[in-house]
Amino acid sequence: MGIMNGIPADVLKMPGGQIITTSIDWILNEGRKNSMWTLTFGIKCCAMEMMAAGAAKYDWSRFGFEVPAASPRRADVMIVAGTVVKKMAPVVKRLYEQMAEPKYVIAMGSCAVSGGPFVYDSYSVVRGVDNVIPVDIYLPGCPPRPEALLDALIKLQQKISSQSIVRK
Ligand code: SF4
Repeated sequence: MGIMNGIPADVLKMPGGQIITTSIDWILNEGRKNSMWTLTFGIKCCAMEMMAAGAAKYDWSRFGFEVPAASPRRADVMIVAGTVVKKMAPVVKRLYEQMAEPKYVIAMGSCAVSGGPFVYDSYSVVRGVDNVIPVDIYLPGCPPRPEALLDALIKLQQKISSQSIVRK
């Protein structure tokens, strides 16, 4: 977003500036929300449901989540599908930091949302991945079904649709 800094404010001062920035928002957001690349990794049992969402029956490619990226540098969506333990947390953070901007995170399953069944009496489990990285969409369930993940991804698309290059 670097080169866009400052430009929206200048454009808004012109007659019709609001229309121009709204049009730029629409073009950028349509591109982003219809070509989300998910980082390929799964942590625990929720990852099975995530894989099912990408397979033939649910086929998340229909919504534009076409390319599972093998490198964080080519991904803009991280689906944290499983239990994050304290030993793993720095690695999850490093992967997030290596992802391209703008980037988004879905906490999939009760473990990623809050520690899930391990919220009590565990010395090793992180009580929610939002203690490590920012989360955009919380998807509860143990595990959530593939339809629920599709719904979360569509909610993320709706969130991206409402973003603007104008700083508020
Ligand atoms: S929420 Fe349930 S299914 Fe998902 S990783 Fe945790 S224990 Fe496994």
